[in-house]
Amino acid sequence: MSEPTTPPYRGSCLCGEIRYEVDQIGPKMGHCHCSMCRKFHGAGFTTYGEADAEHFRWVAGEHLLQSYKAHNGTVRRFCRQCGSSLTFASSNDSGKVVEFALGTLDSDIPCRPDVHIFVGSKANWSRIDDDLPQYEGDRQSQRIK
Ligand SMILES: [Zn+2]
Ligand SMILES: [Zn+2]
Repeated sequence: MSEPTTPPYRGSCLCGEIRYEVDQIGPKMGHCHCSMCRKFHGAGFTTYGEADAEHFRWVAGEHLLQSYKAHNGTVRRFCRQCGSSLTFASSNDSGKVVEFALGTLDSDIPCRPDVHIFVGSKANWSRIDDDLPQYEGDRQSQRIK
């Protein structure tokens, strides 16, 4: 049974120890095909939603959040206990927006992804079969479809 699409929307990691709530999601919600997202999630691509920091809060298990800072300065946080990927921050992150892995949501949400990014790094076995815009790199890069 999925919950009704009324905020706050709730999310959690695989083991359930880390839980968060988010009051408002978007407007940006992108499927990212970059090799780092693919490796971190062990998946063909990942999908991040964003929320203003004041609309996102950890409600349990924040002490289990572990950070991994990659060579390019990006910081990804995950559950130390179960490995679930939870947040992403760019190297120049202002802290005003939280990017979180949409796959960890337990609630249904009313919004949908709007874009595919880093399609230039897409796994060759992964097929995009929707009509969303596709960008070579980030949203400011060349649109390829
Ligand atoms: Zn966990
Ligand atoms: Zn990525």
